[in-house]
Amino acid sequence: MESFLDRSRIAYFTMEAAVHPQIPTSSGGLGILAGDALRTAADLDLPMVGVTLVSRAGYFRQHLSPEGRQSESAEDWEPGRWCRRAGAKTVVPIEGREVWVGAWLHVLEGNRGGREPVLFLDTDLPENDPADRTITAQLYGGDSTYRLKQEIVLGIGGVRLLRGLGFRIHKYHLNEGHAALLALELLRATVPPSAELRAGEPQYNVLQVRHRCSFTTHTPVGAGHDEFAYDLVARVLGPFVEDGVLRRLAGEAALDMTHLALNLSGYVNGVAKLHAETSRRMYPGYAVRAVTNGVHAHTWTAPSFAALYDHHLPGWCHEPEVLVRVRCCLSDEETWQAHAAAKRRMLEHLHNAFGVALAPELPTIGFARRMTSYKRPELLFSDLERLRAIAQRWPFQIVWGGKAHPRDEDGKRRIEQVHAALRSLAPQVRGFYVPNYDMSMAQILIPGVDLWLNTPQRPLEASGTSGMKAALNGVPSLSVLDGWWVEGCVEGMTGWAIGDAGDSPAESEAEALYRKLEQRVLPLFHQDRAGWIAVMKGAITLNGSLFNSHRMMRRYAAEAYM
Ligand SMILES: *Cc1c(COP(=O)(O)O)cnc(C)c1O
Repeated sequence: MESFLDRSRIAYFTMEAAVHPQIPTSSGGLGILAGDALRTAADLDLPMVGVTLVSRAGYFRQHLSPEGRQSESAEDWEPGRWCRRAGAKTVVPIEGREVWVGAWLHVLEGNRGGREPVLFLDTDLPENDPADRTITAQLYGGDSTYRLKQEIVLGIGGVRLLRGLGFRIHKYHLNEGHAALLALELLRATVPPSAELRAGEPQYNVLQVRHRCSFTTHTPVGAGHDEFAYDLVARVLGPFVEDGVLRRLAGEAALDMTHLALNLSGYVNGVAKLHAETSRRMYPGYAVRAVTNGVHAHTWTAPSFAALYDHHLPGWCHEPEVLVRVRCCLSDEETWQAHAAAKRRMLEHLHNAFGVALAPELPTIGFARRMTSYKRPELLFSDLERLRAIAQRWPFQIVWGGKAHPRDEDGKRRIEQVHAALRSLAPQVRGFYVPNYDMSMAQILIPGVDLWLNTPQRPLEASGTSGMKAALNGVPSLSVLDGWWVEGCVEGMTGWAIGDAGDSPAESEAEALYRKLEQRVLPLFHQDRAGWIAVMKGAITLNGSLFNSHRMMRRYAAEAYM
């Protein structure tokens, strides 16, 4: 631990972080992004410290019945296998008790020797009541009381533990509003303890807190923004800062974590240009900037492509911008062979793990991400007759995957709808729904398909990152113009758009999707292999070189952390 205390660091607070494929503390894109940010910091030797919850039971393990009915079980992991205990503990106030918070230290190693500490906060300590020991058990589990307790542990416990361990922090990065209570803890600390005893409201130094906090908002979707009723806050957190102060910062009606974060952060950003625009409309009066997300190139490039890049473009892991040379450096043949190897790897995995036999020669459409309404996993299946007719002419197969939050009945229904559609399309169109889609599955699945499909409802996909992972592996996207794709799509060169960016489309999006598949994408794959490979290389050259987390973290370093 001492080796991390000599430099002042940026503290990156996040509810979820996918720091390793075998550590199941992530629910999807947000956690993967946090992991990629920390991995990149290690590569760049940018001094950071990650602060997150240990989530000993993970998010959950997904089980699917033959009809696609999802059930869940705990995805337990053993922190002792991956981490050492950090040698300090702290307390946070919960329901009038002092709840102890300890931590596990995991060390991320970068590709040039850099190392970043990640603290997994844990309340499973013998000092605590049995009920309090489970506060850090399940990611996004339980009700809003449980969530508030988790956010107290993350925000308040995280700041106190960093202090207790001797970290010097010059910036706090709030990765989504879940972490906003950290700013409240910093605010409290701007008033000397004696001043609190005097009558009236203490003079908190809001500017000082803003100077130290940067906030990234990640979604325009309501479910991503926690709101807690003030009577719940009074019961669970108790008196922390004066009621009037809290309501001015966090909202009159309820404690709104996004507003709290907005009001206490000196730098605020959305995760793509369109998302920043959407956020500025949602939060008038706040300067919401845009730092478009990126993915960690080394983590998300399949071994076959990594070997090619190593050969032609040494240094690409540290400076993925050099992928801009892919179009001129890589031959069609070696590009196609690298893809064929990634596809074989996926097909073999599906065969060995699930006994599924898909055809190596058929174009394979991939779609895997959290299953939730705005991502519209059912859009491809809106008209099964139409889809069958397309497949008759231009055969293809489908690989699907994704978990629905255990309480998201609508998301669960969509998983069943996709299952029903795949059943109805068989045997003409082969398809498979991969159970328990997670980071390790994503590393195999995304590079192994031929086309990455994305059909969110505009403008609700703030960024999306899976298409960026695909691009690094020469897998073009077919996507609605939302999130990063607004910036990444060069029609026919990096992939294809579904519909246009206008508000009143001339045709339905399902129709636009079918038309693009039938007239552009599938004919190109079947009839013009060189043309297809040109699009593969275009995706790497124009998307892979830009939508990586090295570019993203250098921007955070220069604009949000300095
Ligand atoms: C990248 C990734 C995501 C994010 O996918 P989007 O299409 O951006 O929503 C979700 N889950 C896993 C396991 C991933 O690796």
